[in-house]
Amino acid sequence: MPWLRLLRWKLFISHTLIIASGVLVLLPTAHFLAAANFAPEPAASLSPDAAPTDKASVASSAYVQSVVDQALLISAFAALTAAVIVSLFVSRRIVEPLQELTVVSGRLAQGYFRERTAINSNDELGALSQSINQLAEALEKTELRRLGLVADVAHELRTPLTTIEGYMEGLIDSVIKPEPEIFAMIQHEATRLKWMIEEMALLSRAEAGQLRIEPKPIALLEIIKQVAAQFQPQVASQELTLTLDLPPTLPQVLADPDRVVQVLINLLANALQYTPAGGEVTVFARSLDFVVQVGVRDTGIGIAAEHLPHIFERFYRVDKSRARQSGGAGIGLTIARHLVYAHGGEIWVESEGIGRGSVFNFTLPFNEPIAN
Ligand code: ADP
Repeated sequence: MPWLRLLRWKLFISHTLIIASGVLVLLPTAHFLAAANFAPEPAASLSPDAAPTDKASVASSAYVQSVVDQALLISAFAALTAAVIVSLFVSRRIVEPLQELTVVSGRLAQGYFRERTAINSNDELGALSQSINQLAEALEKTELRRLGLVADVAHELRTPLTTIEGYMEGLIDSVIKPEPEIFAMIQHEATRLKWMIEEMALLSRAEAGQLRIEPKPIALLEIIKQVAAQFQPQVASQELTLTLDLPPTLPQVLADPDRVVQVLINLLANALQYTPAGGEVTVFARSLDFVVQVGVRDTGIGIAAEHLPHIFERFYRVDKSRARQSGGAGIGLTIARHLVYAHGGEIWVESEGIGRGSVFNFTLPFNEPIAN
């Protein structure tokens, strides 16, 4: 009987069984108690010459017993009716919220993340409903982020592709002359496209927690000098000054050198990108208690206070039009943060506001275990 598996029926049957067992105990007990208490004296009842008062006593005893039986039957019926009403009430209070929770979780499983339950009772069902609503909220946020990511990725990839398409159409229609600069421009856009795809692939690996880090003891001073040397041609062409403010020695850190280079390149490239000609970029490093701190300071456009908390979020750009011109996809800092966190370090930004430069800092842990 499949209907027997329904909670509603289980509740009804359990209530009925409780009442029925009460009735089963009460009926014979009351019947025998009544019989014993209202029975006439044995001598009087058995004698054939019993007096009329004795006969009346036997009749009244039988009458009392039948009244007691009737009263018990009526109360049994009343108790059964009460069982029906109570089980209806209880099933309303328990079964209906459970049905609502089942419907809502089913809708969530189908991808309708806006679904919420309206149960706000102050009991276990209310608590369950609250946690289902929290789950729905988390799922909805993740879904919104995913949709935003797909839209952003599509938008970012479309920009260089549209440029390449435009040049190609111009070349085919002979509107643009096939000159070396045009091919160089197309190649530049193609390279940018490839770089963006690589960055996005890296970001998705980082966000999935699949970035491989191979830490080993490294000397940061050497790495900083190498990366800075790599940027010298760009520094010169942008009429900037790049200064290294480094101590003579630094403790070794435990890090993956390729990933540290990647972080430094991201921060230095940004500093050069967002600092106008004549400005200065400084890379500094110092040893703190258990970590080495590295920083990239610039005298560039700076960052307004309201943007600071979001600067490491993926695809976040302060000035979208400016970033697009210069090719930024707004994921360099997100990747840098993932890389630094993967090493157990910290990364943060400081800026006194627009036009007042910025400082990007990160830390990496010492190689040596800390002696107590
Ligand atoms: P992008 O590729 O756009 O530079 P990032 O993730 O590296 O992406 O940086 C995110 C945003 O942070 C940039 O678009 C820019 O608005 C801001 N930003 C990053 N570095 C600096 C800096 N040194 N000075 C001013 N703004 C910066």
